[in-house]
Amino acid sequence: MFQYHQAFGFSLTQLQTASYPTRSLEFLQKLDQAGTKPSPLLFKVIVVGAGLGGLATAIALARKGHVVTVLEQAPALGEVGAGIQVPPNSAKLLLKWGLGPLLGDRVVEPEGITFRRWSNGKPIGYTKLQPDFRSSFGAPYYVVHRAHLHDALHQLALQLGVDVKVNHKVIEYNEDGPSVKVEDGTVLSADLIIAADGVKSLARDHILRHEKKDPIRTGFAAYRATVDVEKMRDDPDTAWLLEKPALNIWIGPERHVMTYTIASGKSFNMVLSHIDHSDPSTWRPETAIDDMRAYFEGWDPKLSKVISKINKTLKWPLMSGDASISHWVSQSGKLLMLGDAAHAMVPYMSQGAAMAVEDGAALATSLSHVTDLSDLPKALSIFEAERMKRSGQMQEASLVNGKIWHFEDGPEQQARDEAMRPEVEGRHFIQSPNQWSDPVTQAWAYGYDAEEEIEKQWKQSK
Ligand SMILES: Cc1cc2nc3c(=O)[nH]c(=O)nc-3n(C[C@H](O)[C@H](O)[C@H](O)COP(=O)(O)OP(=O)(O)OC[C@H]3O[C@@H](n4cnc5c(N)ncnc54)[C@H](O)[C@@H]3O)c2cc1C
Repeated sequence: MFQYHQAFGFSLTQLQTASYPTRSLEFLQKLDQAGTKPSPLLFKVIVVGAGLGGLATAIALARKGHVVTVLEQAPALGEVGAGIQVPPNSAKLLLKWGLGPLLGDRVVEPEGITFRRWSNGKPIGYTKLQPDFRSSFGAPYYVVHRAHLHDALHQLALQLGVDVKVNHKVIEYNEDGPSVKVEDGTVLSADLIIAADGVKSLARDHILRHEKKDPIRTGFAAYRATVDVEKMRDDPDTAWLLEKPALNIWIGPERHVMTYTIASGKSFNMVLSHIDHSDPSTWRPETAIDDMRAYFEGWDPKLSKVISKINKTLKWPLMSGDASISHWVSQSGKLLMLGDAAHAMVPYMSQGAAMAVEDGAALATSLSHVTDLSDLPKALSIFEAERMKRSGQMQEASLVNGKIWHFEDGPEQQARDEAMRPEVEGRHFIQSPNQWSDPVTQAWAYGYDAEEEIEKQWKQSK
């Protein structure tokens, strides 16, 4: 840390970090990143799980020359039929890796996010995404159908030579080998095993040994649904939502509804969240639609119109990873976890998959410093420390939205809406309860570059 009293005679290295939040010194940090390094070692890697996190990690590693096999338990690859937001901190990496042409025109770039009052839809907050996020953070803010993002990642992984094996459920880990045993009894070994096996991770128990740290139920639940845009276009109460690509979020007591178009504007995506402490084993799919409508009874009539056009929904419990997990890398240093397996989070910052993409980028960057096997523990420990900090903070920011958005009408809600008013009225502001707009949160969330951050950590460790 640069100390004020060292101001006379300080070195350039001392000037590269500061104890306060600033980006003014970034130009110095980037200065000597280029240079000749000995060739890194290349590893044989097994990634368990072909979700968004597993495929992104496989791509990040294959780009650097590692030999990657992905094992997926499902008989076919796929993702649930709903949308996902791809914020600039992950879009930047994915586009750099070459995903753009594979996504093609299947992505939508919304012009902004409007926060609306639950009872009447009146705008109470606003973040301009286009062109502001591109110009500030060097990458777009996309929304996309999950299946399209997943398919593009799969195609890119195959192009890079990744071997993706479906019908390969891992039932046992040997972290010392390291190796995995799949359901048919086959044992597969590698130099490094990466578990991207999701919130119900089997690997997590192996890595944490005696610590029992399963993700925690947060008391939030969400209904996910898509609405056919043709049904919305014919109705003036709903057609306005399709006029331009945009995110709209209604916030109110104990509930909120996030909406946006996906699939080049052909489908309307909805996540309807509410506080629910009941046991998920008591949730009945056959009453889900009626229960969902009951939760949002009395909300903005225009929103209710959209909800009335939903003909299928599923309810999900929202989990958050245990913040007290002490490590992601196993004792042997040959098995590690990332993605939802390591840091599940409520989706209120729309950053869960983005964190998994960053994990993959960070791991590949850190491994590129391994020129001798003795460097491997340091590479994994730099990866682990940086990613635990970043994803832990994102878990917290996501839970904070779950509080800020759900105030009962009253003093806190009024103060929140008053503090967001400048962004609706187009006035200048330096802080906002809307975490997409708040300048400090915005720079932290969307200005983060996972690859650069790991380079910085390596430099500081020398
Ligand atoms: C309602 C909702 C909205 C969200 N919105 C956003 C958003 O807008 N933006 C965003 O960035 N994130 C969002 N997220 C979070 C995001 O969906 C997840 O963080 C992300 O999908 C996690 O990816 P993953 O690959 O780590 O895990 P998963 O997607 O769970 O993938 C794990 C994979 O591993 C496989 N697997 C598991 N066990 C085994 C085994 N033993 N052997 C072999 N294979 C195995 C599974 O079949 C699966 O394919 C949202 C989440 C929810 C619930």
